[in-house]
Amino acid sequence: MTGGAAAVRSGIRFDRVSVAYGGNVVLDGLDLTVEPGEVMALLGPSGSGKTTALRAVAGFVRPASGRVYIGDRDVTALPPHKRGIGMVVQSYALFPHLRVQDNVAFGLKAQKADRAEIPGRVAEALELVGMAAYARRYPRELSGGQQQRVAIARALAIRPGVLLLDEPLSALDAQLRSGMLAELARLHRELPDVSLLYVTHDQVEALTLADRIAVMDRARLQDCGTPQELYRRPRTEFTASFVGNANLLPVTVAEAPGTVDFAGHALAVPTGEVAAGVTATLCVRPHLVGLGDGPNALTGTIAEVQWRGSTHRLYVEVDGHRIKADLRELRETPALGDRATLHFAAQDAVLLPAGAGASRG
Ligand code: ADP
Repeated sequence: MTGGAAAVRSGIRFDRVSVAYGGNVVLDGLDLTVEPGEVMALLGPSGSGKTTALRAVAGFVRPASGRVYIGDRDVTALPPHKRGIGMVVQSYALFPHLRVQDNVAFGLKAQKADRAEIPGRVAEALELVGMAAYARRYPRELSGGQQQRVAIARALAIRPGVLLLDEPLSALDAQLRSGMLAELARLHRELPDVSLLYVTHDQVEALTLADRIAVMDRARLQDCGTPQELYRRPRTEFTASFVGNANLLPVTVAEAPGTVDFAGHALAVPTGEVAAGVTATLCVRPHLVGLGDGPNALTGTIAEVQWRGSTHRLYVEVDGHRIKADLRELRETPALGDRATLHFAAQDAVLLPAGAGASRG
């Protein structure tokens, strides 16, 4: 491996970047830094502003306010081809009339790279994605996964400091997707200096690939942290439900230390500095909920059972609230309408006071 695909180490910085379409704010004051060599996922539901943020880095949308930096350079007013970025989109966007090698050479020619260097750079990029044997094929002669590899090679050929990926796996079927995810992780290991900004609505992709995840909702950054931080200690209800689909129970902090009231039940959970009387949301991951008696036991009626192969997902209705439990190795499938008791350990619950949120320090 030549290892020379990145000329410079450069991160990305959004400095209060806002974007509006016809008065409609679709990105609202984004402050976010991607460190050199870091993989940052932008994760959120459709329409939350992820692609807009990516396109602001690429130079395809002009912020209404704020600045975008690549490395130390303020690129806010720079045209896309002068930004030194590679970009990969969901639809591959290969030129159908060009062979693989000419698709990969395209960016180099546009950049006016030294003609004598182009074949070597094309070969190097195709080698990186395992497509060297397909250089003379046309895109129509390749599978979806192969086309996406070529698109990645094309983006890497210019040796960008920053690689932008917009839902790169969405067009692939599930099995290919997981293979390509591993492939992207390998590529990143081989190009440790390249910063990756990876837009996805798929939490598994974000959790698998990213060093940090920026959670977006309704044009705003909701939370940002490592996958472990977001999963174990979400800061907001949105993060807790979007990343890992947590139980969110409405509670009130009780007078007794370390106690909250949930629908008339006293639950022992870490309450930290939150004062008595404050309303809050208790976040408990479904896989940390057990069946049967134990600490924080809650009894209700089984409203739904889903068999998911390695686990059963039970929905138990407790005083008008549905609690999800992911249970392993149940010998018998519980029946709808049966009574069931669920429990969880105090340390497995996270208390989110109402209005808690914004990004981590
Ligand atoms: P995401 O990538 O999270 O799905 P987008 O950044 O693509 O979200 O879009 C955010 C919002 O901006 C959406 O409501 C979308 O309809 C709107 N939007 C995106 N591009 C345009 C455009 N060119 N003109 C008008 N509205 C747009």
